[in-house]
Amino acid sequence: MTTPNHNFIAGNWIAGESEIENRNPSDTSDLIGMYAQANVAQLDNAIDAACDAQKLWQKVGIEARYNSLMAIGQEMIARSGELGELLSREEGKPRAEGVGEVYRAGQFFTYYAAETLRQIGDTADSTRPNIEIDVRREPVGVVAIISPWNFPIATASWKIAPALAFGNAVIWKPANVTPASAVAFAEIIQRQSLPAGLFNLVMGSGSSIGQRLVESSQVDAISFTGSVPVGRGIVSTADSFTKVQLEMGSKNALVVMDDADIDLGVSCALNGAFGGSGQKCTASSRLVVHSDVHDEFVEKLVAGTKAFKVGHALEEGTQLGPVVSDDQLQSNLDYIKLGQKEGAELLFGGIRLDMPTEGYYMAPAVFANTTNDMQINREEMFGPIASVIKVGSYDEALATVNDTRFGLTSGIVTRSLSRASHFRRNAKTGCVMINLPTAGTDYHVPFGGRGDSSYGPREQGSYAKEFYTTVKTAYISCGEVG
Ligand code: NAP
Ligand code: MG
Repeated sequence: MTTPNHNFIAGNWIAGESEIENRNPSDTSDLIGMYAQANVAQLDNAIDAACDAQKLWQKVGIEARYNSLMAIGQEMIARSGELGELLSREEGKPRAEGVGEVYRAGQFFTYYAAETLRQIGDTADSTRPNIEIDVRREPVGVVAIISPWNFPIATASWKIAPALAFGNAVIWKPANVTPASAVAFAEIIQRQSLPAGLFNLVMGSGSSIGQRLVESSQVDAISFTGSVPVGRGIVSTADSFTKVQLEMGSKNALVVMDDADIDLGVSCALNGAFGGSGQKCTASSRLVVHSDVHDEFVEKLVAGTKAFKVGHALEEGTQLGPVVSDDQLQSNLDYIKLGQKEGAELLFGGIRLDMPTEGYYMAPAVFANTTNDMQINREEMFGPIASVIKVGSYDEALATVNDTRFGLTSGIVTRSLSRASHFRRNAKTGCVMINLPTAGTDYHVPFGGRGDSSYGPREQGSYAKEFYTTVKTAYISCGEVG
């Protein structure tokens, strides 16, 4: 029998050294449960077990891997209603977004199940006679996966699925704010008869358990999604030569040109800036708007922002849930004060909201008359706050988009093919959206950014194999026929 809120280590559910509370951000009187916190010895056991299990998994054959991944993906898809509700209850995104996230997480598994069977490789003749070469991919080994709370199941899934598909063992350290999703996901994975220790869930604080995992010399690769400071720390403290992949924050911009369909621009802005309460790495917190359409755009943006129904994540009709925690709410409100101090004009929102249940609710905020050098336009706020920056030309718009240390996504709303094409080629971001919101990406193509947003090989699609495998070049002497 499984013990739901424990860690899953070396094939067993294990109580932690201590426990943390998990509360619903839509209603803080709702205690979702108590969740185990591993100690260092338990983490070390998980790493040892992963090393052993990986050797077995490498040998099971690709059809066994296919079957396990497909079954995990199908169960997640089939249970997306129930698990999506749990996710929304602990994270605060509206129920439909929670359900959509779990469904998408399942799709990562079904995609990578199929990827296990895509095995046609590279061969070559040697420059020397009678020698043939084949180039194969082998697992990288034991992979540490450290994930954030804002997409607690999808982010983990797009890492765990390719890790297992390509023959690796996994130690997963989820965000401590969203442990219920992690335990539910681990229960699905453990139902497959994987070698004990192949997949381990190790909950604990980032600064202790996460940090020790990063520093382990037995870990071959670390895939991390989270904030820039933590990512920077991981690169500098990982055991030397550990392969590292980081997906971090951003400060994405959406351009609305003078030739745009303004209603489309407004709907892209509302979706990109406020979806998931702005707690997306792909959120468009900078809205770069041409002066000729600025006033009309701002008027419609404010009207759309006012119309959002903020409420309990599980309540019918809620479009915007609470933010994830009290810390996040305080940080958002501090940015509102900072923006006003910097001279930005707060047109709407930015205040804490009282609701029938006690939670971390705030009204989505729109700032106008902002400049790109204000701190609110330079730092990732990770809340429902959008800043409008007025520009006089396409060139100025592009320069503004690129004037940031981040580079995950960018977007432009325009009817001009030449501007759209120019933007697509010259925006310094890993993803570019034309007449679409900056948020919202597919699962079968690479995802990642530039600058401070990303480090290491891309995630998702077939590009993921660059990170989760290592290449072996074999030379075979064919001898003489005689
Ligand atoms: P975070 O504070 O950086 O935490 C991310 C993960 O790292 C959590 O599991 C955290 O554990 C762990 N951690 C913290 N300190 C650590 C350490 N010293 N060593 C190892 N692990 C450590 O980020 P967050 O607040 O959860 O998430 C928000 C951030 O994620 C934003 O910046 C957002 O842009 C980014 N994000 C990026 C993407 C992308 O693909 N680019 C996607 C989603 C989110 P604890 O929870 O226990 O602290
Ligand atoms: Mg955090």
